[in-house]
Amino acid sequence: PLAGKRALVTGATSGIGLAIAKALSAGGARVMINGFGDAAQIAAAQAEAGGALYHGADMSKPGEIADMMATAQEQLGGVDILVNNAGIQFVSPVEEFPAEKWDAILAINLSSAFHTTRAAVPGMKAAGWGRIINTASAHSLVASPFKSAYVAAKHGIAGFTKAVALEVATHGVTVNCISPGYVWTPLVEKQIPDTMAARGLTREQVIEDVLLKAQPTRQFVTVTQVAQTAIFLCSDAASQITGANISMDGGWTAA
Ligand code: NAD
Repeated sequence: PLAGKRALVTGATSGIGLAIAKALSAGGARVMINGFGDAAQIAAAQAEAGGALYHGADMSKPGEIADMMATAQEQLGGVDILVNNAGIQFVSPVEEFPAEKWDAILAINLSSAFHTTRAAVPGMKAAGWGRIINTASAHSLVASPFKSAYVAAKHGIAGFTKAVALEVATHGVTVNCISPGYVWTPLVEKQIPDTMAARGLTREQVIEDVLLKAQPTRQFVTVTQVAQTAIFLCSDAASQITGANISMDGGWTAA
């Protein structure tokens, strides 16, 4: 169904982004991935995403993002499906939160989507078709302590999604975000030690009493479930879904 479509997925060397890139490729799209990793990890991700192109732009650097968008134009011929997914986390009480971590999270989790979106929208409008999918989070709707920068950035991306959706609504372009609860990925794995320290808990207590406590289903979301939702948003059936924030959080934000 996605034959002929060209997709760019940021933060696609691991986790949710890699799963989305694989699903887009499996659906017939030609894919460019972005993200960090060593040569072997990047090559493996490219292979898993159907021989995807790769650009290593640092999503905290607007100049590198501009280069990635120009390269996508040259090598893919344009971007019909833009997935803004790159993101990082940092867990700390606000009074100890390092200012450079705040800046990095706002840049990578929020501003990068502004820089890619503004570059991609003209081509989508000209084509009369486009899909912009932002990986937000349950933290775009509710907060948790010690995640001030992440919560601010994710609330921000949900608002950005709505604003752009309104701007492009008559052009066949939809803009949505997907808001997972806890998905089992390296991002979640890596925050366990900091949460253990911040709250004085064991690893098992963090998993059971902090992470899965928030999810009434008591199960992690899978990367495949997120990827399949992204594929649905690319379909004709989803052409009237725009400006939406689609929760996939096991009931977390219903509580
Ligand atoms: P992950 O750590 O597995 O993947 C993050 C990706 O972003 C990697 O490819 C990494 O290389 C890339 N990245 C990090 N910093 C970058 C930078 N400066 N420039 C370019 N790429 C960079 O994490 P994930 O869980 O798959 O997270 C993906 C997205 O999903 C993030 O936006 C995250 O906030 C969001 N999210 C994750 C969860 C979860 O529970 N895992 C829940 C809700 C939302």
